[in-house]
Amino acid sequence: MRILIVEDEERIANFLERGLRAEGHFCVIAKDGESGLTLALEGDFDLLLLDLMLPGIHGHEVCQQLRMNKINTPLIILSALDSLEDIIAGLRMGADDYVTKPFSFEELLARIETIIRRSAAIEGEQQVLTVGPLKFDRQSLRFSVADNEIKMTAKELAIIELLMSNPGTLFSRERILSNVWGLNMDPLTNVVDVYIGKLRKKIDGGSENSMIETVRGLGYRLNMDK
Ligand code: CA
Repeated sequence: MRILIVEDEERIANFLERGLRAEGHFCVIAKDGESGLTLALEGDFDLLLLDLMLPGIHGHEVCQQLRMNKINTPLIILSALDSLEDIIAGLRMGADDYVTKPFSFEELLARIETIIRRSAAIEGEQQVLTVGPLKFDRQSLRFSVADNEIKMTAKELAIIELLMSNPGTLFSRERILSNVWGLNMDPLTNVVDVYIGKLRKKIDGGSENSMIETVRGLGYRLNMDK
């Protein structure tokens, strides 16, 4: 799964990222409310973990803005505010669950699993993404082309999952950068192009007529007709 962690406390953010990564998830960290909101509004995440006391925009505001913009990504608030009023306020803002700090990682994982099961049941979201010959199993993180399994790095998988989640849709370099590397990456870097090159080699031998199409000056999209 693709998980956005909005947390200004580096120690907690890193602890979450390490643990979730070990469970096979891909994480992006936002260190303040504003960048968290921007990333979450793009709507390319399967789960949001949101701290409340953030620099800039408060977590409640982030949550409210998302729901007002019809972003229904499952969202868990992680907060040291543990009064019943705070918990109720968070849930009223549109959070799916509220976990008080300090929490055990096992408890958080159990709650994540519950929420994901629930939302997958509602959306009927496929566990396996299929686009032409490409197949990506979100649970086992196995990727194959015409049933041949291909070894991928975490970043490569994150990019291909993003493209496969919306085939035919144009993704700008900036959008890919912020979704896969977070917002702290210099947008002038050509890291996206380098990774797209690697992906093409793995998917269709680096052919000019690749399924991953370059839209000159704009970005990339997955072309289903190739
Ligand atoms: Ca905080």
